[in-house]
Amino acid sequence: MLGFANHAAYTVDVNMAKTPETINEFLMKLWTPALERAKTERADMQAMINKEGGKFELKMWDWWYYAEKVRKAKYDLDEAQLKPYFKLENVVDGMFYVATKLYGIQFIKRTDIPVYNEEAIAYEVQEADGKHIGIFYMDFHPRPGKSNGAWQTGYRDQSYINGQMITPVVSIVCNFTRPSGDIPALLSFDEVTTLFHEAGHAFHALFTHGTYRRTAGVVARDFVELPSQIMENWAKEPEVLRAYAKHYQTGEVIPEALIAKLTKSAQFNQGFETVEYLAASLLDMDWHTKTFESNVEAFEKASMDNIGLIDEIVPRYRSTYFSHIFSGGYSAGYYVYIWAAVLDADAFDAFKQSGDLFNPEYAAKFRTLLSKCGSDEGMAIYKTFRGQEPSIEPLLKRRGLK
Ligand SMILES: [Zn+2]
Repeated sequence: MLGFANHAAYTVDVNMAKTPETINEFLMKLWTPALERAKTERADMQAMINKEGGKFELKMWDWWYYAEKVRKAKYDLDEAQLKPYFKLENVVDGMFYVATKLYGIQFIKRTDIPVYNEEAIAYEVQEADGKHIGIFYMDFHPRPGKSNGAWQTGYRDQSYINGQMITPVVSIVCNFTRPSGDIPALLSFDEVTTLFHEAGHAFHALFTHGTYRRTAGVVARDFVELPSQIMENWAKEPEVLRAYAKHYQTGEVIPEALIAKLTKSAQFNQGFETVEYLAASLLDMDWHTKTFESNVEAFEKASMDNIGLIDEIVPRYRSTYFSHIFSGGYSAGYYVYIWAAVLDADAFDAFKQSGDLFNPEYAAKFRTLLSKCGSDEGMAIYKTFRGQEPSIEPLLKRRGLK
């Protein structure tokens, strides 16, 4: 009735990817190297089983048990060693440091403006010359009645009313462990990246500059995690870690050996993780592009056989409980996470390749990209920053898939 060949074509028409064909082709480009890597991981674990004298073949239910052993042997990273270097206040300073170096903006703590809860902290964000950009709230700890997780939200979006610019009021909300006694709030590295991630969404909202409320800052589902995920890259860079990861008792900068371990461990089990995710994404696309005969299991098996999924790995979600691809708003949309990951890896690579993590030219262009979201097609806006379409190579490299 609407002129689309199937539900997927209808759904993704408004996305950056545009067509199911583009998405399938894109996913398959990642699939091949990811599957190769997963097979190597499988071989590593089989070697470990053999070495221990276990006379059996690795099965899917053995994967995490042996992956954990490989992790200990190969990567040897202990979270407890890291935490003292990630005091909440230091991490916030690190996030401000990155934003100031990139965009020249400043964060001024304001105790004179209202907060929605006494624990929320308010900052005014200003340009280098003092011009007002917006208000930025942060709310870090759990309390009764507060939802779990971490997110970015806003109380007022940028808009124009009667020709007058209305500035945004944004907030990031997290649930980090509270300080207790003499011990301040110390974050896990996952929480560190969460804070940078949500701040990335907040910068997007703060920099948005659109004429029309309907389109200002509004972006397609496969684009919306670019502003946030790109910030996680800075959090992990040795140069940036040295600036903010300082021991909460001694002030000592995080040792190089720990940075090296942290960097290396990012590639742990990435073959498996990418494969189980891609398998689910491809299954989602199949459900919304192919004809279903009668048997769910047979449909799923045909779909997985078609891409050559190995027996030791199952898709992250099986059809019978993959509920978000039917009524959860993710129909033909599970691919968006890795689409955005390709974008953030490719965008960040521009900075890295230039030899300056805070390259002013790219920073200015990226800020323009953030400000213009919603005013044009996602790919067109991306190209104004990068000068070309995104490449999958930086993501493959980051995950150790090639
Ligand atoms: Zn996000």
